[in-house]
Amino acid sequence: MKTKLFSLLTFLFSFISLTAQTATCSQPSYCDRDCWAPGGVCPPDATPVYTDVEFIIVHHSAANYSAGTDYKAVVRSYWDYHVNTHGWDDIGYNWLVDPNGIIYEGRGKDTQGAHFSGANSNTMGVCVIGDYMTATPTSVSIEKLEDLIAWEATRKEIDVLTTGYHAASGLTIYHVSGHRDGPGTTDCPGNNLYALLPTIREDVSQYPCYKGEDEGPPNDLCENAFSITSKENETFDIGSVDKAHAESLPAASCDDFSTPALLDVFFKFKAVEDTHQIKVVPYGDMDPVISVYQGTNCDDLTEIFCSDSGGGAGETETLLLSGLQPDEEYLIRIYDYGEELPENPYFKIAVTHGTLSVESPFENNFILFPNPADNILKIKSLSDEISRYEIYSMNGTLLKQADEIDNLEKAIDISSLSQGIYFISVQNNKGEIIVRKFIKN
Ligand SMILES: [Zn+2]
Repeated sequence: MKTKLFSLLTFLFSFISLTAQTATCSQPSYCDRDCWAPGGVCPPDATPVYTDVEFIIVHHSAANYSAGTDYKAVVRSYWDYHVNTHGWDDIGYNWLVDPNGIIYEGRGKDTQGAHFSGANSNTMGVCVIGDYMTATPTSVSIEKLEDLIAWEATRKEIDVLTTGYHAASGLTIYHVSGHRDGPGTTDCPGNNLYALLPTIREDVSQYPCYKGEDEGPPNDLCENAFSITSKENETFDIGSVDKAHAESLPAASCDDFSTPALLDVFFKFKAVEDTHQIKVVPYGDMDPVISVYQGTNCDDLTEIFCSDSGGGAGETETLLLSGLQPDEEYLIRIYDYGEELPENPYFKIAVTHGTLSVESPFENNFILFPNPADNILKIKSLSDEISRYEIYSMNGTLLKQADEIDNLEKAIDISSLSQGIYFISVQNNKGEIIVRKFIKN
């Protein structure tokens, strides 16, 4: 049996070990000057002035562009305007982000720019390309802006949530401010981007790397779910829950212990048919729980399937999904059961359709849904006729049964059962038996 006390200790231990570590956020990838201005057509300032950045100033460029715009050419045009019209030493901004989320290196790190109404010392300027008086920033451009701020803030030990006195302007401003917060008169960075600054500060403050925690796997957050393509033959992708963090999601409904699900990572796939199978095979001692959510909007997730039926640490977990909508995307969440942190956090995962596993057709092609169930529990096999079922209480009392069903599926009225956890034993026409747990709401 799984011990709750040990789980709690591991939970506390993992918390302690995370907060004790320090880390900085890594620099997001970017298009450097050779990338946007090859051949030295837009040279940098030959005599740059360095500054100790304490304030990150967000700008917009007050111009909108149509889809398919060559943003490298746009950045070159800004350089041209700043250098040849304004007579500045270089493009004014330290960094730029286009609506596709591509980051461009302007003056780069630690160099004083020309962007904050003459009060540039101790600032770094980043321009989100677009006119945000009229347009709304793309979510990918905001994500990249946040990545850039997280990197600069951790590198320079800037508190993104607080204000500070900025000597060059004589103003007390947020360490992450908009151009309009400075000494000049400007709409920059536009009402729509300016309104996002509180969210941007808050988002960055929640980055695990900002909080000094180790960076988790790349698909640690729902927003960064890895795409998996469902195949007819099992094709595995490699995953890991190493240093994964908790998402603000409840434990999967099939997880009987309902520990805080600390070590979750995310995948997504597009349904090809209405029936798919997910298989997760640990490389070591991980005890995987699989849950599947409707849609991929991370702020609005509805669990539709889950599986925690494997034998425990190191056992393969298989989940059969039915009733999916072809072409719809579904989110897969994988976490360790949480009894103990796995020594080996690696697993492989495959999503299949069309041909279902042949190792144990009845076991692999059996589904029980919904779980938890209200009044009707359905049992369904895609491979074998179901001949009988029996429902037991947790202490082994037989509560309900039926035989001579001789059908691939059966809807069972469980309205007479009180709320709780039950076992169901299902037998096929060859006498093979599956035992599963379900929850009655
Ligand atoms: Zn500006």
